[in-house]
Parts: sequence; structure tokens; C-alpha cells
Amino acid sequence: MNITVIGAGTMGNGIAHVFAQSGHDVTLVDLDHDRLAAARATIDKNLGRMVAKERISADEQAATLDRLTAETDLAKGVAGADLVVEAATEDAELKARIFEQMDENAPASAILASNTSSISITQIAAATQRPEQVVGMHFFNPVPVMKLVEVVRGLATSDETYETVRQLAEDLGKTPVEVQDAAGFVSNRVLMPMINEAVFCVQEGVATPEAIDTVMKLGMAHPMGPLTLADFIGLDVCLSIMEVLHRELGEDKYRPCPLLRKMVAAGRLGRKSGQGFYDYSAA
Ligand code: NAD
Repeated sequence: MNITVIGAGTMGNGIAHVFAQSGHDVTLVDLDHDRLAAARATIDKNLGRMVAKERISADEQAATLDRLTAETDLAKGVAGADLVVEAATEDAELKARIFEQMDENAPASAILASNTSSISITQIAAATQRPEQVVGMHFFNPVPVMKLVEVVRGLATSDETYETVRQLAEDLGKTPVEVQDAAGFVSNRVLMPMINEAVFCVQEGVATPEAIDTVMKLGMAHPMGPLTLADFIGLDVCLSIMEVLHRELGEDKYRPCPLLRKMVAAGRLGRKSGQGFYDYSAA
């Protein structure tokens, strides 16, 4: 199949990687040339690691890279697509604009999917003339490693669209899970309130971040404590997802913890800023 991925950031390069590795021709689209070059280098490096572990051959590494094309013009990038997976910045207005452009320029038969973590698929689909061919395809970071894909049905998503994307995810070696369109889907609806509650525990002095993470790792067998995970995801991303849950679901239990807001306001965003609940300045 011809797959186009919009956005060559963290998720876009992983999504392009897994589709190309499973034999699809992939066009990766980003506004930013440097992002496209960096994505190709990351994919090459990650494939190189798989070769070193003897999980794929050097020929497969080369063939996978050969199936990847970079493009800065979205209209050209989607012109021959069977499936477009949008993984651009998490911004509802931006996504609506991108879906409008995708709808105008992709073949009439193409499925338009979004990797959004929190924006309504039904709302995104409304920006197009083909809402029955719009679906959520929610991958997890790092994409080549994580097995889960939430396949999200918008209000108008057809059974045929859902089934095509479910089968494709399975063909990538992933485990697709069917989810209806609701704020945060299942993953963030369950994960983010847990992280938020861990931040309340820090704020109230119930325990230190290290102690909270140890409780969840050893007591609940989580591979990573919630505050370590929050630093990894980015505290700004966690806050913005809590705000979506609070706004859309309207219950107090989703209110973002004031300490989370304070840390984001201070620029303590986790790993990417060098400081979050833990200090990464030496890393
Ligand atoms: P990112 O910031 O790393 O990458 C976004 C990319 O989109 C950038 O390279 C940017 O240049 C590009 N972009 C912006 N506007 C564009 C446009 N008009 N056309 C083409 N490219 C454009 O973001 P990310 O972390 O990869 O997240 C992308 C999407 O995936 C978001 O919707 C996010 O909610 C979702 N998501 C993220 C994660 C995660 O762990 N990071 C997990 C699951 C889903």
C-alpha cells in the first residue's frame, strides 16, 4: 500500500519506520526539512540497532530505507496515498486545516487516520467530506517497540474503514484494540488521572517522588513509576491532556493538580527540559 505520514516528529518517524519495514511505500511529510532529515537518520539508526541484534538483515535495513520518501508539500505527499496517518503537532485547529488539505488532495478512496492522543476523531472528521473514511490510529512511543494501537471509531467511521485499519495494524505486528471516540480514549483516560493523582501526593507531602514511583513499581508491577513516566511524556503534554479530560468530561476528578500547572509554568517539563520530578541536567 502507499502510506503517507504527516509530521516527522517523535511519532511520525516511528510510524513511517514500522510501515516501511513491513513492506509499504511510505511518504513522510513535514514542513521542516531538518525534521525530515533527522527522522530518516533516526529510522536508519533504529534499523541499524536491529541489524546489530540480528533481528533483521542489512539488506532489509537498506530495502526499508529505499521505501521511504520525504516531502515538504502536503498536497503532493498525499496525492497517491491509500492511507494517510496524520501525526502532526497536537493542536485541534492545525489538525482541522491539515485534514481539509488531506481531503482535497488525497484520492477519494483513501482512508484518513489521526494519531491524536486527545482530540475528538468525530470533530477532526467533520473537517472533511468523507467522515466515514476518517479513523483514529493511536500508536504508542516508541512506535517500533510498543505493541498497542488504539483504533478509534468516530461517530461516522464506517465498519469497512475500521476493519481495514484494524487489519493493517495487525499486519504491522501490533495488537489493535477497538475504542469509541471519547476524551483520552482508554489509554489517557486511565493513565493521566493516575499521574495527576501521583502529583497530588507530591503536592500534599504524602511521599517523595522516589517513594511514589517505588510503590507503583514494586506494589503494582508497573515497569516505570508514574512520575518517571510523566517526565518521559512531558509535563506540558500531561497537563494539556488533563485539561481536555476536565473540559470534555466535566467532572472535578479530572482537575489538573496545581503543582502540575506550576511546574509547567516554571518550564520544568521533564526530560526534554532537563528538570521535572527528577533532575536530568547531567544526562
Ligand atoms: P512532535 O512535536 O515531535 O512532531 C510533530 C511534527 O509535526 C513536527 O515535526 C512538526 O514540524 C510537524 N508539523 C506541524 N505542522 C505541520 C503541518 N502543517 N504539516 C506537516 N507537518 C507539520 O510531536 P509528536 O510527539 O510526534 O506528536 C504527534 C502526534 O502524535 C500528536 O497528535 C500527539 O498527540 C500524538 N501522540 C504522541 C505521543 C507521544 O508519546 N509523543 C504518543 C501518541 C500519540
